[in-house]
Amino acid sequence: MAAPYAWIEQSLETIRRANWHRSVRTVEGQSGAVVLLQGTPLVNFASNDYLGLASDPRLAKAAIAAINEYGTSSTGSRLLSGQRELHSQLEGAIARFKQTEDALVFSSGYLANIGTITALVDHRDLILSDQYNHSSLRNGATMSGATVVEYAHCDMADLREQLENNRDRGRRCLIITDSVFSMDGDLCPLPGILDLADEFDCMVLVDEAHGTGVLGETGAGCVEHFGCTNRPLIQMGTLSKSLGSLGGYVAASAQVIDWLRNRAPSWIYTTALTPADTAAALMGLKIVQAEPERRMQLWQNVEQFQTGLDKLFSKGMICSLDAPQRIPSESAIVGLRVKDAETVLKIGSRLKDHGIFAAAVRPPTVPTSRLRFTLMATHTPEHIRYLLDAIACLTQMIED
Ligand SMILES: *Cc1c(COP(=O)(O)O)cnc(C)c1O
Repeated sequence: MAAPYAWIEQSLETIRRANWHRSVRTVEGQSGAVVLLQGTPLVNFASNDYLGLASDPRLAKAAIAAINEYGTSSTGSRLLSGQRELHSQLEGAIARFKQTEDALVFSSGYLANIGTITALVDHRDLILSDQYNHSSLRNGATMSGATVVEYAHCDMADLREQLENNRDRGRRCLIITDSVFSMDGDLCPLPGILDLADEFDCMVLVDEAHGTGVLGETGAGCVEHFGCTNRPLIQMGTLSKSLGSLGGYVAASAQVIDWLRNRAPSWIYTTALTPADTAAALMGLKIVQAEPERRMQLWQNVEQFQTGLDKLFSKGMICSLDAPQRIPSESAIVGLRVKDAETVLKIGSRLKDHGIFAAAVRPPTVPTSRLRFTLMATHTPEHIRYLLDAIACLTQMIED
């Protein structure tokens, strides 16, 4: 390999030695509560498809109908030739769901965060960012050129202190946070954040990727859950988790959305969302609203899993010094902290031998290694019992 590229092999070797090296695993066929991974059926606790809509025939049918009507590509950016009636329908439906004046769909949630943050602030401004925010928020903050100040995870006293110390360094100020934290499943203290935003004259961007379809009376998310629907804030989320499709969105006032259509580069200079993805998301959103029983079932499953974990941990079945520790969660994401990357890989692979697919999450995605389980509405009580039985053997798995 030519000398200028030689560093790559060295750097790959470094991440391999730390057990941080990653590679892909191919899922075969439909992804549901059970998936086929390299020929082996596994109960799936690694999916973001919380309501099971990704394999719902109604979404597939809507996508196929859109392809038949409009073709496979939207062929241009939204401001040139890419706009279709389906985009307006989806944006209208999202705005009604979120009870905002307007909404805008992006090609992914990642691009929605990057586009929104870079449109709202620049080098003259300040961003306050929760230390555990998703990569898309953190990268958007860096790309904006604003001064970025991290505050301690969900710590309102620290956010206040950082605002007191730094607010005058920025012309505008934007507070950014996950609503449901994507790795640990805990919730941001949204009412407190909004109060501080009022007091210090800040905008707020809240990432509802794991809240939409899961939390709130109508499934509108963490903002609804906390009764903050009518407060001034900008909500973003993804079409690729509960909604079973692909793409991202921002829901906000008509002015904010109009500004984004004029100033968000990752929306302006990219091809519009495909007709198939748009139609599938629209159907997904209809189902989320029409079938609250899916959300109820999801929460019943979360309850079964958490109650089962309570029993396991209180019985001292998971007790050795190196044993995983529970991470408090208020969502469909449940994490167990594991001492290091090597151990979490080992447990992940043992769980796979037991017929369970779960995420072994390592740095740099998270500060310390953890096992991450996501519940779905389509898991059966047996699936969850099966997982609990496997977790009961975790101590043994580590020692083996
Ligand atoms: C998944 C995720 C995103 C990105 O959404 P995509 O549509 O997959 O690009 C953004 N923020 C959070 C918190 C996420 O979990």
